[in-house]
Amino acid sequence: MDFNDSPEEAAFRLQIRNWLGANAQEFKRPIDPETDVQSYIAKGREWQKKKAKAGLAAIRWPKEEGGLDGTPMQEVIFHEEESHYHVPVGPFVTIGTHLAVPTIRRHGTPEQIEQFTRPTLEGDLLWCQLFSEPSAGSDLANIRTRAVRDGDDWVLNGQKVWTSWAHVADWGILIARTDPSLPKHKGLTYFVVDMRSPGIEVRPIRQISGESEFNEVFLTDLRIPDANRIGAVGDGWKCAMTTLMNERVSVGGESQSLPTVSEMITEVRAHSAERSEDRFRMAQLLTQEMGLRYFRFRLLTSLSKGETPGPIAAMSKLVYANMLQDLSAMALDAGGVDSLCSQDNHLHKFKHGYTWAAALRIAGGADEILRNQIAERVLGLPGEIRVDKDIPFSECR
Ligand SMILES: Cc1cc2nc3c(=O)[nH]c(=O)nc-3n(C[C@H](O)[C@H](O)[C@H](O)COP(=O)(O)OP(=O)(O)OC[C@H]3O[C@@H](n4cnc5c(N)ncnc54)[C@H](O)[C@@H]3O)c2cc1C
Repeated sequence: MDFNDSPEEAAFRLQIRNWLGANAQEFKRPIDPETDVQSYIAKGREWQKKKAKAGLAAIRWPKEEGGLDGTPMQEVIFHEEESHYHVPVGPFVTIGTHLAVPTIRRHGTPEQIEQFTRPTLEGDLLWCQLFSEPSAGSDLANIRTRAVRDGDDWVLNGQKVWTSWAHVADWGILIARTDPSLPKHKGLTYFVVDMRSPGIEVRPIRQISGESEFNEVFLTDLRIPDANRIGAVGDGWKCAMTTLMNERVSVGGESQSLPTVSEMITEVRAHSAERSEDRFRMAQLLTQEMGLRYFRFRLLTSLSKGETPGPIAAMSKLVYANMLQDLSAMALDAGGVDSLCSQDNHLHKFKHGYTWAAALRIAGGADEILRNQIAERVLGLPGEIRVDKDIPFSECR
């Protein structure tokens, strides 16, 4: 993005450009796509460590805790500049730094904060998020994984699904039901779990793209020490909300590997004489892209002033994911069947955009859920009817 930095922001941007110029040269070009997952992850850990040493892994945190005492705008500037490089970053790092650690820092004990913060920041601990289950996605409070107290441990049985990067994670954040006699939001407890514990079985899920980034995770008589409980017994929903608020702000979207509207227009023009309906659609998408851009400037301005943008921020992912799918579809349509089979690198971008948009429209809150959120919390429309809100979970069907 280019927008008018304040003089302080411009100075920080220059400082970051210089730092990246000195430290990220190897990522000027894309990492070889043949690189195996383990080597890619190892590069990701190394890059994270480099950033942590420079205080750039958690810009807003206090210096004595590994941060830079920086502002939200400085964090945004760093990510904008970093995105000009093909750095090995991804959810395998950010689930730890953006979801697990902020939740532990908010609800954990001083010992837990000490144990997990620094190693996560430095890329030594990678995390996964064990929340969703076959019957609990949008309705997360419906989870059925049971945790039963046994001496100093909790014994867990259940199944998680869509667990991104569980196959490489060292630790997981997890919610389980500890008291089914309470209403569904109240009988939950939040834990952290060592992913190498006996009783955890990780099974990969193969995606339409051919990749396998997420998994089913089966928990059978898994023992978690009570020392790894985050927050009070029964406070799991409150802790999970801290995680989800952070997730909805951090699931952004764009990266170098995803196409833009102007790339789509070039692609369509290369294939066909434009029809008037194509031109109309292109104009619509271009308008959406520009609208999104200016909407984000407003979010940035409010961050820059130290405000929190609130539930309206959900618009950003909602509009972006839909626009990405539409623009990718338009480019692929123009190329016809050949474009689907082509190994061409620039067409790969549109194929990737199309399939990733489908996932992005669900991850971090599905379209309909975000629309509900905007309707209820921004526009003030009446809330959904929630009939099971106050009855014991054990009586819900
Ligand atoms: C790429 C990706 C990565 C993910 N990674 C993780 C992860 O690491 N850890 C994890 O725990 N989970 C992860 N998830 C799961 C994700 O959180 C869920 O897929 C999401 O919350 C939706 O839940 P669901 O799949 O069960 O769909 P459902 O909740 O069953 O929804 C199905 C459809 O019904 C609609 N719907 C549901 N409720 C309502 C309603 N009240 N009003 C209107 N429409 C409704 C939804 O919008 C959706 O279109 C990931 C998902 C994706 C796509």
